[in-house]
Amino acid sequence: MTEKLIAIGEEAQVAKPLFGLDRAALRALVSGWGVSGWRAGQLAQAMYQQRIEGISEITTLSLALRQKIEAEGYVVGRPRIQQVFSSTDGTERYLMECADGRTVETVWMPEGDEASDADEEDADSADDLATSNQNQEKSSQKTQRATICVSSQVGCAVDCQFCLTARLGFERNLTAGEIAGQVLAVLARHRVEVGRDRVNLVFMGMGEPFLNYANFMAAVRLLVEEAGLSPRRMTVSTSGIVTGIEQFAAEPLELRPHLALSLNAPNDRVRGEIMPINRKWPIETLIAALQRIPLRPKERITFEYVLLGGVTDRAEDARELARLVRRTGLSAKVNLIAWNAGPGISFASPEPRSVEKFKQSLVQQGVSAYLRRPRGRDIYAACGQLKRTVEG
Ligand code: SAH
Ligand code: SF4
Repeated sequence: MTEKLIAIGEEAQVAKPLFGLDRAALRALVSGWGVSGWRAGQLAQAMYQQRIEGISEITTLSLALRQKIEAEGYVVGRPRIQQVFSSTDGTERYLMECADGRTVETVWMPEGDEASDADEEDADSADDLATSNQNQEKSSQKTQRATICVSSQVGCAVDCQFCLTARLGFERNLTAGEIAGQVLAVLARHRVEVGRDRVNLVFMGMGEPFLNYANFMAAVRLLVEEAGLSPRRMTVSTSGIVTGIEQFAAEPLELRPHLALSLNAPNDRVRGEIMPINRKWPIETLIAALQRIPLRPKERITFEYVLLGGVTDRAEDARELARLVRRTGLSAKVNLIAWNAGPGISFASPEPRSVEKFKQSLVQQGVSAYLRRPRGRDIYAACGQLKRTVEG
């Protein structure tokens, strides 16, 4: 909030954020001030690698240039961690404040088993080769493993019947800087060393990333090209926005995260009831779009499947789901998520026994299935519980 308004002369003007601008945009900006274009690289490095929060911290720039930037009305403007909720399982949920005062939520899950969302084998071997030498020289601090769950919109318009975020309705898209900024703020808080620590990103927080496609991908580009994170440690989840899936399929592999599709039901009848978006893009259309994505060797598409007690968790649902997944011919796996309760939503959580039986049934029918362990339920940080609140 401190940087929200800055006074210039008599007038107060809304500060313009630098955070979120890529190198080309930064170059254009500084060139416009008559400053050499390579200063853009120093700005990018300060924001995305050193993770500074204020212009005064950019000590690679002269005092005069820092004052010039401020006089032009610019601030760093990265979202700020306003509040932290800590779970007994080590999970932290953050209320992130954007420059306009709106808040979204971001979650840090240490040692998360969400790693199954990224292709671990694939990402690990390449990263290990690249960093093993560096590691020996680095401090003896223990390697951190964690997953960060990132939001893409304030609220959500998709209206899935079982999701708490849906209750907010849609407020606005996040900018690329607000999406990437959540990640950088959390990396800074936990002093994550990119290259040494193993941090996965899941774009599974508030909002539908594929209804904010350009900003979502611009954020990924910043995180990959400027912050040095690997897209093979990132997974984006969509409720099934086919226009987004088509754009995603055309992304270059060096920038494209993994994909998870929120399937959540074994047929159009049930899916249409719990996810109204299915009436626009039914299952067959989704599958056809997924089949056009060029996958990396060993890469798998994830089908997320929320188990709703008595609605999607029955033995016949498991059989129908297995048939559906096999029929797609896709290299795929299923991530089962036991439904997390939320105030005012009248579904039932599945019995632990039926969750285990459901998983076994899929495996017996030749479908890879994993159970996503709920994280931070006590602080409303688990899947579908993000609602920008101080409840719990
Ligand atoms: N909007 C995107 C990503 C955010 S939701 C999407 O829907 O895919 C991330 C995952 O949480 C989705 O798979 C969604 O189906 C699931 N989810 C939503 N509400 C949930 C709840 N109450 N309990 C468990 N999972 C939930
Ligand atoms: Fe939006 Fe995803 Fe929640 Fe559906 S499950 S309402 S798409 S955030």
